[in-house]
Amino acid sequence: MTKTAEMQKASLRWKKAGLRVVLVPTMGALHQGHASLIRRARRLGDRVVVSSYVNPTQFNRRSDFRKYPMRPAADLNLAEHAGADVFFRPRSLYTSDASTWVEETARSRGRCGDRRPGHFRGVATVVTKLLGIVQPDVAVFGEKDLQQCEVIERLVRDLYLPVKIVRHPTIREKDGLAMSSRNLRLSPRQRVLAAVWAKAVRVAAQERGGAVPRRLRRLLQNVSGLRLEYAEVVGRHLCAAAWLGSVRLIDNRKCGLKR
Ligand code: AMP
Repeated sequence: MTKTAEMQKASLRWKKAGLRVVLVPTMGALHQGHASLIRRARRLGDRVVVSSYVNPTQFNRRSDFRKYPMRPAADLNLAEHAGADVFFRPRSLYTSDASTWVEETARSRGRCGDRRPGHFRGVATVVTKLLGIVQPDVAVFGEKDLQQCEVIERLVRDLYLPVKIVRHPTIREKDGLAMSSRNLRLSPRQRVLAAVWAKAVRVAAQERGGAVPRRLRRLLQNVSGLRLEYAEVVGRHLCAAAWLGSVRLIDNRKCGLKR
């Protein structure tokens, strides 16, 4: 389905019939992390909508937007197999004279918010649009994007939006790398470094307090081809981002757990 009016009509019809609607917003290039979110959504309601929209306003780098992988046919197949009732792929969610933005101003600060100016404004705006179109009872987001979860939870609370936000745990490759559409852009050597990165985040998070970011910096300082962008403990999580060439990876792990 591509038409916003048609999507909204279908959703309102389901709700009138007493069905519980669950939304899983994505930017496409679906992988098993997304599939896990969709399966969770399936258990949470009666109708599952998976949206796929590469939101231009959340990319602070044009090149990142242009290079974002697209494979709609494979996505449709994966979404349906995981349990989606509707694969909603709007062509555009911005008219040329769109002049309304949604900006959360506390949780968007620090970490990715500081390094990607405008990113969370784009996310908050597009998620608000999707919630307006689909009007779900529940929306599922991945903890892999932890700050995004925090921003959306705050936005929903502050704007009294009638939707429950459910966080879903990070799904990882066998070697511990968090699944991400961006992993497709890694060269074979970078893919090896990405596993080193994921392990370093896991190991550093086993420390406690101020030692956690220090440990991560130390573990990665001699890894050539990988540049740590930030490492911070926020609440109970180590949150970190790193660059491998032009690919930016983020990850987070609960601190103080031995695994
Ligand atoms: P994206 O398509 O990357 O914007 O992601 C769409 C949704 O899937 C977001 O809520 C992400 O946090 C979530 N997601 C992406 N990768 C993973 C993963 N490896 N594990 C769990 N959730 C994920």
